[in-house]
Amino acid sequence: MPSETCKNLLSQLSDYIDGELEEELCAEIERHMAECPDCQAVVNTLEKTIVLYRTAGRAEVPRDVQTRLYKVLKLDQIGRGAT
Ligand SMILES: [Zn+2]
Repeated sequence: MPSETCKNLLSQLSDYIDGELEEELCAEIERHMAECPDCQAVVNTLEKTIVLYRTAGRAEVPRDVQTRLYKVLKLDQIGRGAT
């Protein structure tokens, strides 16, 4: 299971990959990824998926693709706990 740190960082991944995340948070994600193979794998997979979509002429990865990806990685609880 991913740690709390992983969940927190991965919940911001789409912004990170879109380049919409604050520089400080990007640095935090990169620092964590350097020592966390799980998160490296997630980011690699997500980036590949996004590249495929962009190659196909679509700018955005549909939300359901992200959801599926998170589910595969057992991260689909992300964002559901907060009320
Ligand atoms: Zn991690």
